[in-house]
Parts: sequence; C-alpha cells; structure tokens
Amino acid sequence: MKITKEQVFERAKGGQLWAGCLIENYQDSGAKLENRTPIDDSVIGYIADGQAADVDAAVTVARNTFISGDWKNLSPQERKQVMLRWATLIEQHSEELAALDCVDAGKPITECLNTDMPATIETFYWYAEALDKMFGKVAPTGQQELGLIVHEPIGVVGAVLPWNFPAQMFAWKVAPALAAGNSVIVKPAELTSLSAYRMVELAYEAGVPKGALSLVCGLGEKVGEAIGRHADIDIVSFTGSTEVGRLFLKYSAESNLKEIVLECGGKSPQVVFADADLDAAVPHIMAAAFWNMSENCSCGSRLIVHESIRQSLLDKLIAASTSWKVGNPMDDSVSIGPMVEKAHFEKVKSFIDVSIKEGAKIVSGGKIHSELGSGWYIEPTIFDNVTPEMSLFKNEVFGPLLAVSTFSTDEEAIALANDTHYGLAASFYSQNVHRVMKVARQINAGTVSVNGFSEGNITTPFGGFKQSGFGGKDNGLEAFEQYTQTKVIWIINH
Ligand code: NAD
Repeated sequence: MKITKEQVFERAKGGQLWAGCLIENYQDSGAKLENRTPIDDSVIGYIADGQAADVDAAVTVARNTFISGDWKNLSPQERKQVMLRWATLIEQHSEELAALDCVDAGKPITECLNTDMPATIETFYWYAEALDKMFGKVAPTGQQELGLIVHEPIGVVGAVLPWNFPAQMFAWKVAPALAAGNSVIVKPAELTSLSAYRMVELAYEAGVPKGALSLVCGLGEKVGEAIGRHADIDIVSFTGSTEVGRLFLKYSAESNLKEIVLECGGKSPQVVFADADLDAAVPHIMAAAFWNMSENCSCGSRLIVHESIRQSLLDKLIAASTSWKVGNPMDDSVSIGPMVEKAHFEKVKSFIDVSIKEGAKIVSGGKIHSELGSGWYIEPTIFDNVTPEMSLFKNEVFGPLLAVSTFSTDEEAIALANDTHYGLAASFYSQNVHRVMKVARQINAGTVSVNGFSEGNITTPFGGFKQSGFGGKDNGLEAFEQYTQTKVIWIINH
C-alpha cells in the first residue's frame, strides 16, 4: 500500500515511526531508543537498540545463506529480476521514503523527493541492469592451459552508513554489494534508520532472501563496533567521519583483517579564477556550499577567489543567499532545514564563535533561527578574511558556514586548494581552456568538477584521496570491484 508524505508526517506527529532489526529468525529483545526529529525536537518514534548479539545473529544467517548459495548462485539474470522488482517497489514507495528521510534527518522534503529519491532509484536500477554484464577475463596461455580470471562475491559484507543522505547512501552501498551476490548486513546511522528499514522490508517483498540482507539498527559504539570487530564479516564498507573511519581500521587489525573501504569526510575547495563567468558560477557555488544544510561530504566549504573579483563575487553570493529560505523542511518552499541533532548544532555554532575570535568576518547570515521553535536551525553564513591557519579553513564543519579566502596567482590558488588533509572533491571556475587542463590535473581530489558543482553521476566512481578515504569507490562499475574478489582458475590439459 502506498503511503503519502502527509501520512508519514501524521505518524511522525503521533510518535508512531519505527525501525527495528530485520534478521531472519530474529528474537527481538525489545530494547529501543527514542527517535527525535531535528525539526522541533519531538519524539517521532523509536528504533531498535541493537546489540552485539544481534550482529552475531545477522552474521550467522548471512554466512549460512552465502554458503547455501541461495542468493549468490542464482543466475545473474535471476538475481537481476529480483533487483529490478526491488527497484520498482522503491520507486512506487518513493514519496513515503522521501518523507521518512525528511522527518528523520530534517532534510527539505523537496530535496528528498526531487534529488535523493530519483538518485536512489536510479542506483538500484543501474546495478540491477549492470550485474549480468560483468565479464571476467581469459589469460593469454599456451594450448595446454586455460587461465580464467573471475570475480566472485566476497562473502559477508557489513555496510555502515551516515545520516546525511540516508536513502541514497543505503543504495550506494547495498545495491552493488547485493547485486554482486554477497550477503549484506546494513547498519544505518542511529539518527536516520527509518528509510533503511522500509527499503529492507521492500527487498523481502521483491524476493531477496532474508538471509542475504539483514538490518541491524542501533548505536555506532555497539552495533558499528560489533560489525567492525566481527571475525566472520569479510569486508566493511563504511561512509562517515574520518575519525570513525580510523576506528574501523583498528577493529579490522584487532580482529580478522577484514577489508575496510572508507568513504570519509572532506573540506572541499571551490576556486574561482578572475576569468570565470561569475553569473553562471554563483548558483553552483551556492549549491556546493549550502545544499543539504552543508551536511554533505563533498560540500565546497572553502571558497578560494581571485583577489580582483572577490568583492563582486561576494556581492552576488550575498544577493543569492536571500533565496535560500530557512524553515520547517516539511514545507515545500524551504531549502534549508535544521541541523541533524542538537549536538551537531552546538558544534556548528561553536565554529561560528571560534571563527569570529580568530578574525574571520561574517558578511552574510550567521543567524540562529530560534523563532522556528525547538529545532536546530542555522542560516547560510559566509565568512570573509579566512586564512589557512584558521579552524574554519582546516576542519570539516558539516554545517552552513562558507570560508572565503583570496589568492593572486594560479600557483597560490592550487596550493590553497590542496592545503588540506582531505581530498574528496573540488570545483573550479575558469573560461581559459589551458588553465582548465592544468588546474584539473593539479588539484588533489577524487572528483574535480569544472565550471559547476558535481559529484559525477551513477556511471562515475566516487571516493576520496588522502584522509577522505581509500580501499574502494562507490558508484560506477568500480563499486562492483569493492564487493568482489579476483580469482584465477588455471586448468591444465595433460
Ligand atoms: P559518523 O562517523 O559519526 O557515523 C557514521 C556511522 O558510523 C554511523 O552509522 C555510526 O553509527 C557509526 N559509528 C559511530 N561511531 C562508531 C564507532 N565508535 N564504532 C563503529 N561505528 C560507529 O558519521 P556521520 O556523522 O553519520 O556522517 C557524517 C560524516 O560522514 C562526515 O564526515 C561526512 O563527510 C561523511 N560522509 C562521507 C561521504 C563520502 O562518500 N565520502 C558521504 C556522506 C558522508
């Protein structure tokens, strides 16, 4: 049955939304955690307070299913049909899923409906369609041997997700991992488990065997760590902060040396050269800086602008920021909702205070919208005079604070862009083809977009350099590599 966004909002108001563990033959302990919405800090329901024992239970069924071959040994065409059915069900329930992410994360409903869900649905269809087109190789051998290079599913995959794009991050990890034939255990962020719960329910409806996909909700320190340390999980694909990414390397080193794929944080530069088309650039610069309340790993949070155009660009950005309405994300006209939770709101606020103390100057925004009630609302804020020593230049804020710095030469611009421990994404603006060719090569980031803000699309691999992550890529056919291992089968003819 289709559920409308209004029905989801009603259930949220009544505190009726639930995300439990979904594990075959699961004994629910009944332990649960309150789920509050950042919109007004009210209780919208509960999620299961998963424990290490639940991870154990999920791993047991995942391993048994992998060994039985109930999923991995289906022909690619059969697996594809199930994945396609799942994609269709997700498409049919996209309004419900969008509304769940809206109330859970405080994301604007229009974004959830028009950006997140189309990308989520596309991801499911794309991997369903790709899975029966993945070929191995035949090695060049003599007549007496046959060398086959084949790609096999790895086994039991743990997928640990962040809260900023709940449905989409679920799709980025789970669709390729499951399409490749693995058994997957997914742990959504404790702040945003609702859409993951619904999508796993829909997977079962589509015919994914229960043992091939489990959901374990709960806290990072309990469920996340139990996944990281489990001796019978073969690989963990993690998206989240660099700080927690480091912990997964430790968990692996101290347990079974499972593979770890890290997609972590960023402090992405946006470089604007003097020859840029400023009017064309402004909407992209604004989107890179403030889209999704800047709770975006590839957020272009450092604006590095040629000194000769600094003031004219700032004037245009300040004018553009007036159209970014802050308010209740359930309202269709709102583009900036609340920060995801109080603790995060406090962290972003403290960056405002520290930046002012360090000498940066607010030229736009800076307001905390307490008149919107008990939610966690911060206006898009532009800080000028930011220098590389400042906290705002160095640290990922994950909130709507844009740091503006200036440069005078191309070399200085590139040095500033690369002056970060991160390397997830970058964008720059120039109409000079020679400069475009040179700078695109010299910026150290996994995705460099030119004359626009983009993370590429489903066909292109997404992942970072330096402390933004390593070990694999999301998206593109490269994501299959993350979830398969290469085997050589060498056949000898006597
Ligand atoms: P986080 O690191 O706090 O949490 C991510 C996940 O790890 C959650 O499921 C959480 O429960 C779990 N976790 C937390 N503590 C844990 C622990 N001690 N042991 C095991 N698991 C634990 O990240 P977040 O706050 O949910 O997300 C924001 C971060 O994610 C930002 O740094 C952002 O840049 C990054 N991110 C990166 C990408 C990317 O593709 N590179 C995409 C989205 C978000």
